[in-house]
Amino acid sequence: MTIMTKPDLPFYRPVADECDLFRTAHENGLPLLLKGPTGCGKTRFVEHMAAKLGLPLHTVACHDDLSAADLIGRYLLKGGETVWVDGPLTRAVREGGICYLDEVVEARKDVTVVLHPLTDDRRRLMMDRTGEELVAPKGFMLVASYNPGYQNILKKLKPSTRQRFLSIGFDFPQPGVETAVVARESGLDEARSAALVRLAGHIRRLSGMDLEEGISTRLLIYAATMIARGTKVDRAIEAAIIEPLSDEPDVQQALRDLAASVY
Ligand code: ADP
Repeated sequence: MTIMTKPDLPFYRPVADECDLFRTAHENGLPLLLKGPTGCGKTRFVEHMAAKLGLPLHTVACHDDLSAADLIGRYLLKGGETVWVDGPLTRAVREGGICYLDEVVEARKDVTVVLHPLTDDRRRLMMDRTGEELVAPKGFMLVASYNPGYQNILKKLKPSTRQRFLSIGFDFPQPGVETAVVARESGLDEARSAALVRLAGHIRRLSGMDLEEGISTRLLIYAATMIARGTKVDRAIEAAIIEPLSDEPDVQQALRDLAASVY
């Protein structure tokens, strides 16, 4: 879990009206779900908005063992004494900050039981263990993300949960925006950043056929960073694009051919 309270503004290049939507959701106490593929800027967007609104941010990377207690808190033994320690969700509620549950669909089922009273007009956090019931103050906002692309049937967000959130669909930015992001984050010049983005466009058109998912903006930034630091282009593409995307020799070769034709 990471907590961010520093006021500096993480760079985020808006794609549409998502900043206004976020602000309105926050002002009106509405929870927000960000849907989209991995590495397309969801986390950065939340970090940016939290800093912009001057709110503390508690980010939780959800996994299949994450339980309600991990979010709410637990009694821990400290120096022979049993003390209650708040979890990230409880801290965000107490502080009136943002709790961001990244990949919420991964978490255990008991998590949804906690989220429901918090995401409707009750805005309450029930803490079974301590018997406390917290009413979320005005500043508190729950934000969650999930990736509809690689959900299996067992891991879908239930309608009863999704219908409690405003939702924004995220995707990889338009080439012009993505080029600006890649150049800015990596320090690579615009022309070579644009070539990487063009390659990404070709690779994304392949996804679904041989690739589970198209290439993320994050990986493009890795490739651009390596090139900007002097790594040879084909070596950078191999390490930041081809190897991370596939283990299949045939698919890797197809990607190499594609890269050679674009770069
Ligand atoms: P996600 O949470 O969707 O998996 P991230 O927010 O971690 O993805 O995005 C991956 C990287 O891509 C970020 O570290 C950031 O460098 C970059 N990025 C993607 N989209 C944008 C954007 N619109 N503005 C600024 N940076 C972006």
